[in-house]
Amino acid sequence: MSIKIAIIGAGASGIIAAIEASKHSNIVVDLFEKNSAVGKKILASGNGRCNISNSNLCEDSYICENHELIRSTIELFDFEKFEKYFKNLALLVDTKDDGRSYPLSNEASSVVLALTSALKNINILTNTTITKITKNKKFTIHTEEKEFTDYDKVVISSGSQAAPTLGSCSDGYEFASYFKHTIMPTYPSLVGLHLNTKVHAKLSGVKVNAKAKLFINGVESDSTIGDVLFTKYGLSGFAILDISQKASLGLLNHDRVQIALNMVINFTRSQLSSYISSQTKLTPTLNILTLLSGVISVKFSKVLLDFLEINYNEQIATLNSKSIKKIINHLQDWRFDVTQTHGFKHAEVSGGGVSSHEVTNNFESKLVKNLFFSGEVLDVLGKRGGYNLHFAFASGYIVGNHITK
Ligand SMILES: Cc1cc2nc3c(=O)[nH]c(=O)nc-3n(C[C@H](O)[C@H](O)[C@H](O)COP(=O)(O)OP(=O)(O)OC[C@H]3O[C@@H](n4cnc5c(N)ncnc54)[C@H](O)[C@@H]3O)c2cc1C
Repeated sequence: MSIKIAIIGAGASGIIAAIEASKHSNIVVDLFEKNSAVGKKILASGNGRCNISNSNLCEDSYICENHELIRSTIELFDFEKFEKYFKNLALLVDTKDDGRSYPLSNEASSVVLALTSALKNINILTNTTITKITKNKKFTIHTEEKEFTDYDKVVISSGSQAAPTLGSCSDGYEFASYFKHTIMPTYPSLVGLHLNTKVHAKLSGVKVNAKAKLFINGVESDSTIGDVLFTKYGLSGFAILDISQKASLGLLNHDRVQIALNMVINFTRSQLSSYISSQTKLTPTLNILTLLSGVISVKFSKVLLDFLEINYNEQIATLNSKSIKKIINHLQDWRFDVTQTHGFKHAEVSGGGVSSHEVTNNFESKLVKNLFFSGEVLDVLGKRGGYNLHFAFASGYIVGNHITK
């Protein structure tokens, strides 16, 4: 007697679940995908380079209600296992000093090619959108046009709502809700942030290597150093994406969310103050715009001076100490209120999802026997740096191996 398995969603997680399940004898695997090809999101990952994993995997790399699930997943499919797994698929990886791992080819398409080459003895049904999953004795998979019947086991690996142009949607949550699973409120993550000022729009296009601090209800809750990009809507750039996880969660909870930017990280506050004083003695007739432009971009300097209503041509010797203090404050601690995120459309991942407390460490539903979940559909959110793909691969691997037992 063969076991018939349906896997919903051919992203990182569903593909590996299918590869693993199909290695066992007497298994029939149908892999359903609404897109015209499998692995579309992998191709877009890491700007086409695909930051595929990270050698510094640890529990703290994830936001998840169920810490035990993260711990056991990392244990069962750790970085060494990941490297070996992909080596067996003829995909070598290049792991940088900071732990981020990329395909040696530097191309996400190599990852998709390696994975699709391993999809053997599997019925791949692309251009097939699943509308409903029901269970009598066995599972039935529904589309608008037809029903696929008699599945012994089902894996829901249909991802989240982040980046809908790549096939993402909330279907997985609806399937899970039908089976009475709890859906933890979802929120966009690794995403730009909107501000309540108008000044950011004037700075649009300016990129600074800055320290970004996140304040939730006035309390510092995260900080990071990296690129901050001013945009028409607010802020983007790697530093902002990194703190967007907690910012987005704060917005979901209706907290006051603020970002403080230090745009001159090479100087302490007193060093910056002494530098301005020494320049005032050295070149008293120098205008403030020229002085600031030696520290930060000309565009930024102009917008800041306009904002503070200070004349560009004012000589530094004639500037009063209050104005100098204001300039330093804004350069090193400019605080903005965050009003919303840039939305799921532009987010890389989603927080929230199917409650991780309602699955076993093998990702089987605790509510419905033979129903499994893997990947981003669960309420597991990784930091930027390859953690999300690693979780998708790891959970798919564990499901694919357990489901045949
Ligand atoms: C632009 C971008 C860049 C990223 N870069 C990185 C990175 O460098 N490193 C990293 O770790 N993570 C990155 N991520 C996140 C990472 O890609 C995801 O976390 C991961 O791909 C999730 O895999 P998954 O298999 O769970 O879901 P997905 O890859 O989203 O796969 C789910 C699949 O299910 C299909 N589907 C959904 N509903 C249905 C339905 N009803 N019927 C049939 N099919 C359905 C979808 O079309 C999709 O193909 C990035 C994400 C984006 C958007």
